[in-house]
Amino acid sequence: MPENVNWGPMRLLLIEDDQMIGETVLDVLRSENFAADWVRDGTVADEVMQREQYDLILLDLGLPGRNGLEVLRSLRARKDKTPVLIATARDATPDRIAGLDAGADDYVVKPYDLDELLARIRALLRRSAGSAQSSIEIGDLRVDTLTREVTQSGKSVPLSAREWAVLEALVARPGAVLSRAQLEEKLYSWKDDISSNAVEVYIHGLRKKLGSELIQTVRGLGYVIYK
Ligand code: CA
Repeated sequence: MPENVNWGPMRLLLIEDDQMIGETVLDVLRSENFAADWVRDGTVADEVMQREQYDLILLDLGLPGRNGLEVLRSLRARKDKTPVLIATARDATPDRIAGLDAGADDYVVKPYDLDELLARIRALLRRSAGSAQSSIEIGDLRVDTLTREVTQSGKSVPLSAREWAVLEALVARPGAVLSRAQLEEKLYSWKDDISSNAVEVYIHGLRKKLGSELIQTVRGLGYVIYK
């Protein structure tokens, strides 16, 4: 297993001043297991981006404080190459061009088509990862942390977002026993209450899909995947 892989969830910064749109997009991002922060103002965005590292920035251009184009230009002026996806109104072609010229990597039009938004985010993350190693193999299992594709003996195995979160945590550290509490933490990015047996439920689901041998129970301690 390569040592330089970042196995944490992808960190996204959402910069959006509209409360309803922001909440909707944030929910979708989190339900896809992205760790997403949300700021509503260009000046604040500027500060946050200088302090924190993100894998991708989703930037609305019409913002209070500093507008999106200024925020983007400052980011690039700092030689920060974080991928930026800009959001513009459907009919705002000049904005789109100005944004791309200012260093945006791609754009989406508003109102968002959420499936398209997610597809563009994934594509951009893949592109920015370039040749970076993003998959791990354990026996006949192959897990791609960018595309979130899981295959077993070459056959794709669809997982729910929560099953994915549990599996991702376990394959990230082969041989390490993760407690139920540690795994529950991976599920807490969703707003729903976590039932006391949630982890067991997802482990059960994963075993049904991937075989009973892969994830082992260490009595009293937790769960482990051995490489
Ligand atoms: Ca706006």
